[in-house]
Amino acid sequence: MPKKSRPSPEPILVDHLVVGAGFAGLAAAIKLQEAGERDFVVIEKDSDVGGTWHINTYPGAECDVPSQLYSYSFALNPDWSKVYSPQQEIWEYTRKVAEDAQVLDRFVFDTAVLDARWDASAQRWQVSTTGGQYAARTIISGSGGLSEPRLPEIDGIDGFQGEIFHSARWNHDVDLAGKRVAVIGTGASAVQLVPELQKIVGHLGHVDVYQRTPNWIIPRNERRFTALEKAAFRRVPGLQRAARAAVYAQLEGRAPAFTRFPQLLQVVERQCRKNIAKAISDPELVAKVTPDYRAGCKRILISNAWYPALAADNVDLVTDPIAKVTGNAVVTADGQEREIDVLVVATGFYVTEPPIAQHITGREGRTLADVWGEAGMAAYKGTTMHGFPNLFQLVGPNTALGHSSMIFIIESQVRYVVEAARAMRREGLGAIEPTAEAQAAWTAEVQERMKPTVWTTGGCASWYLDKFGNNTTLWPGQTFTFRRHLSKFDAEAYDVAALSTPVAEEALA
Ligand code: NAP
Repeated sequence: MPKKSRPSPEPILVDHLVVGAGFAGLAAAIKLQEAGERDFVVIEKDSDVGGTWHINTYPGAECDVPSQLYSYSFALNPDWSKVYSPQQEIWEYTRKVAEDAQVLDRFVFDTAVLDARWDASAQRWQVSTTGGQYAARTIISGSGGLSEPRLPEIDGIDGFQGEIFHSARWNHDVDLAGKRVAVIGTGASAVQLVPELQKIVGHLGHVDVYQRTPNWIIPRNERRFTALEKAAFRRVPGLQRAARAAVYAQLEGRAPAFTRFPQLLQVVERQCRKNIAKAISDPELVAKVTPDYRAGCKRILISNAWYPALAADNVDLVTDPIAKVTGNAVVTADGQEREIDVLVVATGFYVTEPPIAQHITGREGRTLADVWGEAGMAAYKGTTMHGFPNLFQLVGPNTALGHSSMIFIIESQVRYVVEAARAMRREGLGAIEPTAEAQAAWTAEVQERMKPTVWTTGGCASWYLDKFGNNTTLWPGQTFTFRRHLSKFDAEAYDVAALSTPVAEEALA
């Protein structure tokens, strides 16, 4: 059974403190264990493994990357029910992977990081959590790029008298049948939940969808796997790996259009326009849902259900800007007041200012949030930060993708982190951090590569960009290039210090 958190007066000494039990933290735990680095604890603020796939339970939540690829390379699953798996199935997959790997006894749930400080004399991170103190040689943060809901700053929203919740904190206790519901936002989450909501509220209810910017939405090429396919995946050696490789190659083939030749994305725009035309005949609505920027500048969404839902009798798409929210209505700038019972905010997450950064204080006594606040997020190879020894950030700056599976990136980073941990043990190192020069050169190269990308040139404002206008979120290249960069731990790019205290040999299996 997983451990329950318990406050402890003395810090618990561990070699590695993994933060977060989503895909990233779980992969780190499994690979540390395989490497014989057995002295680790995973703390998770939620009550179970799965991260975003445990927390996001809104109706219609599914993955928009095919699950053959949206899964670990070391834990293929022949039982995926369909091409794009639903949330519950992905969460159950993470749970099963954790059980099979026998790592759950190292997980401490319902425990959040309050404060982490680098203690140079001990060469450890002193970490306070809601469940006690840890003193850890390394922190491997898998805290998630999309974990902290961003609530919109709208006049009067705090005074709304009805039920209000974020898409990532769905309130299943609210009976939505027959209700008047407003949804703010039309991103990846809204595009999945609105079609379900439209059915749930039924003909007695109503949904107002508040759109600030339309998205490009391609059809979802969805189908269920047959029993025969599943049996073949299970029994025919190499078949599922070949299916996975085919999905990888197909998605990877799209990367150059995003990173170097954005004009090619006009092909996607044509597909999207057809998707609109198939479901919507009202020219006014067609105009409202058709974006005016290059496809790919914002994440391209996939759905067969979004446009039919918007065209339904019990749904209105509102594009006038929201002026305020009253006790029982949303009021738009044109003065129109639309009464509602429930307000769903599907307004995304804090991505370029990750909240965990406020809780981590580095070698020079400054928080990661302070350092990143000055010039934007930056990390060497998206993983390690100058001034923050022995801190590894999974899904760090410029590691996210617009075209493929994040699990591929996570596995690349985990491999690098495990290599670093092994090198530290082998060489007797107590502290490593990338040199300022190495980090600056990496960041400059990434930003140079960002210039021709659709995220820079596509003519939109997206959450990929920070307050300085820099894209500090996405990886501007092929995923295999990223993996190659991280294929070995490059100690020459690091300032290193010898161990000042011995490491317990029994920590190694
Ligand atoms: P999002 O993409 O950031 O979308 C937020 C939406 O809220 C946008 O339409 C945004 O409009 C709107 N918005 C934000 N603040 C607003 C305000 N003050 N007033 C009016 N509208 C406002 O968030 P998300 O839909 O939760 O998706 C976030 C990311 O999660 C996705 O890009 C994707 O990476 C991931 N995700 C993945 C899946 C999956 O299937 N794998 C599913 C869901 C989410 P603007 O466009 O004008 O900013």
